[in-house]
Amino acid sequence: MTKTSGKKIARPSQKQAEDAVRTLISWAGDNPDREGLIETPKRVVNAYREFFAGYEANPDEILGKTFEEVEGYDDMVLLKDMRMESHCEHHMVPFLGTAHIAYIPNKRVVGISKIARLLDVFSKRLQTQETMTAQIAETLNRVLKAKGVAVLIDAKHQCMTTRGIHKIDTSTITKSMIGAFKNDPEMERKFLTMISLRSSC
Ligand SMILES: [Zn+2]
Repeated sequence: MTKTSGKKIARPSQKQAEDAVRTLISWAGDNPDREGLIETPKRVVNAYREFFAGYEANPDEILGKTFEEVEGYDDMVLLKDMRMESHCEHHMVPFLGTAHIAYIPNKRVVGISKIARLLDVFSKRLQTQETMTAQIAETLNRVLKAKGVAVLIDAKHQCMTTRGIHKIDTSTITKSMIGAFKNDPEMERKFLTMISLRSSC
């Protein structure tokens, strides 16, 4: 069973999913039984398993186990320039870009790899960039009880670059600021400055 927005839906079998891909190949105008396409439904379904693996994971659990008390560290923890790959929920095509995630600890920190994993869990679902940005910020803030959380995602949507209006260089920026990043314009400015700095290593 897959849980989306509180509603449980039955998961179709692998065979049903492969048949759906065959239907789309026929609808596109090709023959799903020709040699080059015969294995395609299986490959597509396996790729989907990877693209949408985020439905299998619980974001709270990922963050929940790894708190460490920190003494004295009360400044921003920033993961910047993380590669982000997701699929838009309107066209089911990729949107790709970079995510920057920061928080200000409130006596405890979480392993930084867990934050990268949180990004993966939400990006490996059908998404809008706006929703994903808010979900990452809200989850991090709720579980860590941080003094502040900032998330900025900069992405290019293939539904805009390869179809429709074909605006190939357009990038979309979304951001979510919570706590100190929202209440103190200086903190937001510091975050935006730090993510624009080039790494020296
Ligand atoms: Zn789209």
